[in-house]
This record gives sequence, structure tokens and C-alpha cells, in this order.
Amino acid sequence: MDRKPPITTEFHDLEVPGGCASCGGPLAGRFGPDSAVGVCLRCRLVTPLRVSSEARGVHVSQMPGVA
Ligand SMILES: [Zn+2]
Repeated sequence: MDRKPPITTEFHDLEVPGGCASCGGPLAGRFGPDSAVGVCLRCRLVTPLRVSSEARGVHVSQMPGVA
């Protein structure tokens, strides 16, 4: 058997194409137990992320401020 064991890390990464509010570039998000940070792969803008659960899925939005 060469199945990989399940990933048990507490962090989960997500890439949102066109997710950067600043330049429209791809946004790479890292989600931890009580925080989330997004880094734009194009302009390198670092922003805290807010994740909310909605009826049609999960909504990810950039928070202004921290650079
Ligand atoms: Zn950007």
C-alpha cells in the first residue's frame, strides 16, 4: 500500500484566482485555527482575511490595514 496518510496539519492553504482587491492577482491564503492571512502572488500585498460561511458556500474577503 502506498497511500499517503491524511493531512493532519492545522493550517490549510487556498489559492483564489483574481482574489486580490488591489491588483486582481491570485491570492494565496493560509488559514489557521483562529487567523487567516492572504498574500497576493503578483503584488505581494499581505492582508488578514475574513472567512464567513454563507448559504452557497464560504466567502473569503480581504481586510484592509495591515501591510
Ligand atoms: Zn495584488
